[in-house]
Amino acid sequence: MKRTTGQDRSVTSKWRPATQAVRGGTWRSEQGETSEALFLTSGYSYDSAEEVAARFQGEAVGMVYSRFQNPSLAMLEERIALMEGAESCRVQASGMAAMTTALLCQLSAGDHIVAGRAAFGSCRWIVDNLFPRFGIEKTIVDARDNQAWEAAIRPNTKVFFFETPANPTMDVVDLEYVCGLARSRGIVSVVDNAFATAALQRPLEFGADVVAYSATKLMEGQGRVLLGAVCGSAEFINDVLLPFQRNTGPVASPFNAWVVLKGLETLGLRAHKQSENAMLVAKFLDGRGVRMLFPGLPGHPQHNLAARQMDKFGNIFSFVLKDRAQAFAMLNAMELIDISNNIGDSKSLACHPASTTHNNMGPEGRAEAGVEEGMLRLNVGLEDPDDLIEDLDQALAKAGL
Ligand SMILES: *Cc1c(COP(=O)(O)O)cnc(C)c1O
Repeated sequence: MKRTTGQDRSVTSKWRPATQAVRGGTWRSEQGETSEALFLTSGYSYDSAEEVAARFQGEAVGMVYSRFQNPSLAMLEERIALMEGAESCRVQASGMAAMTTALLCQLSAGDHIVAGRAAFGSCRWIVDNLFPRFGIEKTIVDARDNQAWEAAIRPNTKVFFFETPANPTMDVVDLEYVCGLARSRGIVSVVDNAFATAALQRPLEFGADVVAYSATKLMEGQGRVLLGAVCGSAEFINDVLLPFQRNTGPVASPFNAWVVLKGLETLGLRAHKQSENAMLVAKFLDGRGVRMLFPGLPGHPQHNLAARQMDKFGNIFSFVLKDRAQAFAMLNAMELIDISNNIGDSKSLACHPASTTHNNMGPEGRAEAGVEEGMLRLNVGLEDPDDLIEDLDQALAKAGL
């Protein structure tokens, strides 16, 4: 196993993001393979008893067990860190494994977390239902409201947790303000960047401490595997996250890591093209008088903030019809776009959050999080945007619009 120039940070850290996405973190075996090798192994063997003892004692570099480290995972972790501009990264089995690990590794009974109201359903579930069982207090805020973050701080506040843009209301959080506020009070900001990815938004540049991912989504990009990632300072990853991760075991499969590693090579292309397609489709719906939730549109109240933080506005947006019946009628009338609750895929997918991803919050929870009964969320893919527009046009007509 040879470290190529792709592993020497003094060389790779100079490369631009598009180059990192294709080459960052590459290792090569003595075969000189061009595509990254897949290491499906749980264990390792050693030349001597002294060698393995030295590795376990941290005196020699090398792998000891795939719950701790694996070459396919190491390549992906290095690549994500380089794309993110982070000192370090560790991957996990799913996005939720990443979120749970990023939060629980640093929270204890008696601590307090402040979280955004609009969030992926399971992110709200762990804050609302899991953490209280372990004595971790929470305050939920409208994450768009900078003053609400400040007002929520208590002496025991340890973590701010939010996504931007947020699922499925597309709320945008002021990264510079909220992360700056956290840092000035000794609070750790954890940003779920699954919607935008490093291709469109890099929260560390705005002062975030930790960036967490569902790589299942746009990073992987073709709806094949689940994976998560957490990026941060070497100190946070090594001293806070790793002891928790190694011993609790939310470890990713090398196969899944390898699929994401290959997906990252086209992330920039996909993120930009799918954003452009989403903009065309959103403008069509807007022109038809549909109520749009998309910060990419100039009429959105947070358009300027989103434009400051994001390179493009992403491939996901929501829109609101009259009620659940009309939303279902539109979904059922689609001929090209699939009914699916997944996102980030190169295929266009639509879902009704209130009855699927945000169903377990109940009607009151949904009202608080802004998830309306008539809301549909659209993941815009890589199809010809004119075909997507024609499909939406005929589906709107069948839904009585
Ligand atoms: C999908 C998603 C998650 C959870 O990721 P999984 O890979 O499905 O576990 C977390 N946050 C956001 C914003 C997501 O879209």
